[in-house]
Amino acid sequence: MPGSLLEEPLVIETDAVVIGAGLAGLAAAIHLARHGFRVICVEQRREIRKVVGESLDWSAPDLLANLGLPMDDLVSTEAATWKRHITVTRRDCSKKEFLPGAWLADPPWNVEICTMHLDRDRTDARLREMALRLGVSILNERVTDFAVLDEQDPRTRRILGLRTQEGTFIRGSWFIDASGSDASLLGKRFDLKSFEYGPRKVAIWSRVPTRQWVEGTTLYMASSPGDYMEWIWEIPIRPGISSIGYISPGSNVKAQRSMGLDTQEIFMRQCGSFPHLRSLLDQAPIPEVATTSFLCRTYKGVCGTNWVIIGEAASQSDPVTGNGVTAALRHAEEATALIRRYRHCGTISSKARALYNLRVTAVGCFFNSLIEKLFYQPVLRDRLGLFGTARIYTVPAWLMNLFYTRLRPGRSLLRTLIICSLMTAVRAMTWGAHQLGAAFFEMSRSRQQAHPVEGQAYAM
Ligand SMILES: Cc1cc2nc3c(=O)[nH]c(=O)nc-3n(C[C@H](O)[C@H](O)[C@H](O)COP(=O)(O)OP(=O)(O)OC[C@H]3O[C@@H](n4cnc5c(N)ncnc54)[C@H](O)[C@@H]3O)c2cc1C
Repeated sequence: MPGSLLEEPLVIETDAVVIGAGLAGLAAAIHLARHGFRVICVEQRREIRKVVGESLDWSAPDLLANLGLPMDDLVSTEAATWKRHITVTRRDCSKKEFLPGAWLADPPWNVEICTMHLDRDRTDARLREMALRLGVSILNERVTDFAVLDEQDPRTRRILGLRTQEGTFIRGSWFIDASGSDASLLGKRFDLKSFEYGPRKVAIWSRVPTRQWVEGTTLYMASSPGDYMEWIWEIPIRPGISSIGYISPGSNVKAQRSMGLDTQEIFMRQCGSFPHLRSLLDQAPIPEVATTSFLCRTYKGVCGTNWVIIGEAASQSDPVTGNGVTAALRHAEEATALIRRYRHCGTISSKARALYNLRVTAVGCFFNSLIEKLFYQPVLRDRLGLFGTARIYTVPAWLMNLFYTRLRPGRSLLRTLIICSLMTAVRAMTWGAHQLGAAFFEMSRSRQQAHPVEGQAYAM
């Protein structure tokens, strides 16, 4: 137990402390403040930075509406645009649209088949205002340490307070870590186990002025067969502005840098291989590009006695899944519901913790594992074709999100087990198909080595 921290003079005392004022942290702070909690949200940055996470899946709009931001409102105030489909474009510029069937909107399904692209600067600013109006205090300081009781025992470990770099000590009854994937404050502090998917990747993006309005999210696949996937997104975030971003394994970006290219040049070069993007970038000077690196990772054990980890600090989904915003908002709803339920006894029950942990880990692993095996690695993509794999990924991913929304597994053991088992079954099938594909790949490679001509015909 860090005795020195406990001896600090108590500076602030509150009911709930949220670390991080990103989307997940703001959502959690709003939910708690609405239920009468005194909330302090500690955020190291004063300004909203260039945030990504703009193309939403079909489950996110309801979660935003629960916060007080319905779709119509966001679109009419130009904080969002409609998203009705996704277009996948191959390197040879052939393309295919993916959209949910219109029949799903009719009874008995009644599924919302429209979703949005968000202008994150505008949406996050609105959430921040909302939080402030509800009485949330946003403290612009950097969390550096925690005072923890029973640190060595994961079952009873309890957070008493936290300290910031600026020297403030905040004591609270409840702690939510929404510090994002890079910081992952509690995951690192408690040395939680995690599942990692794929290599560390780099994103380079910019907000580009455009008169060539392209509706829906467009994904441009920039790599060749046999290669690990690199891709580009084009997302119309508000009239006249599209977000364009390039995602690649860090090693590829490093290789391009070693050829003497700077970040802006890498971005221009990659986008330039698609005529539509090239013409768009030629129209106006490109605003400065932003860059970030990330590792797709899902932690285990993200809920403790009086603390919960949410958003990317709990699970970083690959951006191409479009599930990051949904996950962040869902975690915020579920974590704050737990805190409300156990408010008076001060400790989340071990069953409720286990169920939250199971859901966060199962969902994170489901999306990351599917996208890694179907899309990023070439084994299945090359056999089934890019459009085929996109279809195979989209159907279970969309359905699982829909089941999750409809089942509302929050408090129920049975429903949590149903949804988690379904996701595990789909993951197992994908894993099996990937193993088979890899075995065929090896066989055809050894045949090619033994009989080059015959092998060539087989590989085609
Ligand atoms: C390149 C990229 C593209 C993406 N695209 C999509 C997409 O199209 N669709 C989608 O749904 N999702 C997407 N996502 C995911 C989405 O952006 C996030 O899931 C979502 O923004 C939620 O983030 P968060 O609030 O958990 O973390 P963050 O937004 O990272 O917020 C964490 C906050 O904690 C603060 N913080 C960190 N450490 C400390 C500290 N020590 N003290 C105080 N404050 C601290 C940070 O300053 C930050 O403000 C994408 C992610 C990436 C990386």
